[in-house]
Amino acid sequence: MRLSSPTLLLATSALLACGGDPKPLDVDCDDAIALSAEPGYERLDLPVRWERDGDLTRGGPVALAVPEGVTGLAFALEDPDALAGFRVAVDGEVVVDVVDLFGEGPWFHFEDRLAVLQFPMDGATAPPSGCVAVEPVLFGTTVWEEGTLHVMSRRGAGAALTIAPIVVGETAIDDATLRAALDEAVAVYADAGAPALVVEEPRALDWPSAFVDDTTDELDGLRASVALEDERTIPVLFVQDFVEPGTFGLAAGIPGPNGVLGTSWSGLVLSVDTHLAADGVTLEAALLGETLAHELGHQLGLFHTSEAEGREHDPLEDTAECPASRDADGDGELSVPECLEEGGRNVMFWTAEEGVRQRELSATQVMLLGASPVAR
Ligand SMILES: [Zn+2]
Repeated sequence: MRLSSPTLLLATSALLACGGDPKPLDVDCDDAIALSAEPGYERLDLPVRWERDGDLTRGGPVALAVPEGVTGLAFALEDPDALAGFRVAVDGEVVVDVVDLFGEGPWFHFEDRLAVLQFPMDGATAPPSGCVAVEPVLFGTTVWEEGTLHVMSRRGAGAALTIAPIVVGETAIDDATLRAALDEAVAVYADAGAPALVVEEPRALDWPSAFVDDTTDELDGLRASVALEDERTIPVLFVQDFVEPGTFGLAAGIPGPNGVLGTSWSGLVLSVDTHLAADGVTLEAALLGETLAHELGHQLGLFHTSEAEGREHDPLEDTAECPASRDADGDGELSVPECLEEGGRNVMFWTAEEGVRQRELSATQVMLLGASPVAR
């Protein structure tokens, strides 16, 4: 089991699907804000002006001049009260529309409490170039005086990803075990041919409790409290457990708002106690490291290769799909042993199994990790 809330959000959002012709998205491309053409990372924070439109609140739209050669492009926007999403037009043609084109391929953008839209999403959705119009949309009628649209971009695929391990409050994990888990995550990415994981020195974070409630806004507040020197570093928070036990770890969004620290979704959270062996004392460091590798994959935009029931699979062409027919014991859920030859060893399979290492990633999964704007 590797529960992760974004999967549930996806399932909920599917109920809201509504197709139709998208509303035009007109901007003045002569006034477009130019993204840098230099190699490397760039973040722009652009003001948004909100206007009410029926049941929606629309911001912008903002015109961006995107040069050729952008390998990763992401938009993020946090609104305290409403679900939010994006509409995007390239040279006048609407390609992503959380309102009117929801669920239409090849895009799979959906509204959420913290809106994130990232290119590429798969092997066929490279970042657009040209005049790119972006309109944030709030599913609600609270008109905010202002807001901020974060635009993260990168030119040239990255060879490394930096994470900052952070031990929360009085969480008990000895240094040797923590380092063994971090080493395992590094080894998983290395074995899979993914960008190298660069791990900062572990640090402690003052917090009232080592047990965090993920059903209230406590988890959001915890993530929002993290401050790091470099915004491209991804926080990895270790808590003793969630108040409701049973969850190995949680990413925040698929992907999260990487490049923006201090939001309610900045970083991933791992439970130490869920990784205890059957004796209730020994911590399974290798499993904890694999969970880190898995949740980091979500945070950077990877979905489960196969979901529990075998009816939903990620949109990537080169990841094995384990079908429902492999459910040999008929319990309604695909296990790792039932899918060994069909993705069970993939880092992003939906669940784990004692004694089976999950260290594989497909070429497209590796490409997506390196295309993240925060890859270095
Ligand atoms: Zn997961």
